[in-house]
Amino acid sequence: MLRRFEVHRATSVEEAVDLRVRYGDDAAVYAGGTELLLAMKLGIARWAHLIDVKPIRELSRVAVARDTVRIGATVTHWDLERHPDVTRVLPALARLEASVANVRVRAAGTLAGNIAFAEPHADPPALLVALGARVVARGRRGERTLPLEEFVTGMYQTALGGDEILTAVEVPVPAPDARAAYVKFQVLERPSVGVAIVAKVNGASFAGPPAVVVGAVDELPRRVDTAALAGASLADARVADALAASARAAVSPVADLAGSEEYKRHLVGVFARRALTALAAG
Ligand SMILES: Cc1cc2nc3c(=O)[nH]c(=O)nc-3n(C[C@H](O)[C@H](O)[C@H](O)COP(=O)(O)OP(=O)(O)OC[C@H]3O[C@@H](n4cnc5c(N)ncnc54)[C@H](O)[C@@H]3O)c2cc1C
Repeated sequence: MLRRFEVHRATSVEEAVDLRVRYGDDAAVYAGGTELLLAMKLGIARWAHLIDVKPIRELSRVAVARDTVRIGATVTHWDLERHPDVTRVLPALARLEASVANVRVRAAGTLAGNIAFAEPHADPPALLVALGARVVARGRRGERTLPLEEFVTGMYQTALGGDEILTAVEVPVPAPDARAAYVKFQVLERPSVGVAIVAKVNGASFAGPPAVVVGAVDELPRRVDTAALAGASLADARVADALAASARAAVSPVADLAGSEEYKRHLVGVFARRALTALAAG
């Protein structure tokens, strides 16, 4: 059952920051509420004050500059899967977003909320880390931008300060010769394993080492060592073997309802191969 709480509708980032400072640990930022209200209903979390950031207009936009796609903190998964600029510039992200949860969660839940909650069983972080995404946070001392890899520090833990709110996720526009793919395995509500691959491709070979990141099995998304794959052919079976072995070695799976450590490590190898196949298919 939900206990009583007060909702403060912030209309500017400055107001949201002031509310964070005023209510401290008694308050949480509230976007789509898909995680927050569930946690409160289950009694896992209790806040007397919720700071609703949805009325802040500047957070609701997706803007494409020459080299960056800036996704405001209240943009939902549903917005992203169909946004014309996202489907054009970051098609792999648009496809990933269409595979998150169900339509009700996607319509209310935001990408920023997914990241800020830092639930390890999540889809976007693996691909976003592989794409080199950054998060933008604003607090009393102004704005700072940090790599997503540094923002998520552990299971349900981030580098967000007590006075800060996340205002945007910035994704570099991929180079014209870059390709990206994300594949996952999911039997429960959330992914058991997700593997993202982003690579510059020269004909049928990697132009350099691909960025490969495994998500959902570990406390944090894990980068795979791919230095040996620079220049390798995408269709070479030995490349798939090497990538699978490297991906399995990169993770320390957490055993849970989705599977044992050993099973998840096996899945990581299988899905690393599938990610390569998806990338090769274009
Ligand atoms: C049934 C179900 C199935 C799901 N399946 C998947 C899945 O398949 N794949 C997947 O990746 N995810 C899945 N999710 C997670 C889903 O993506 C997240 O619930 C959603 O993105 C959270 O966004 P929100 O806006 O609702 O966040 P909220 O619930 O509003 O907030 C979540 C957390 O982030 C904080 N927060 C939110 N916005 C900000 C901000 N701007 N600044 C600072 N802190 C902020 C809140 O304080 C809270 O701690 C699932 C969730 C549910 C409930």
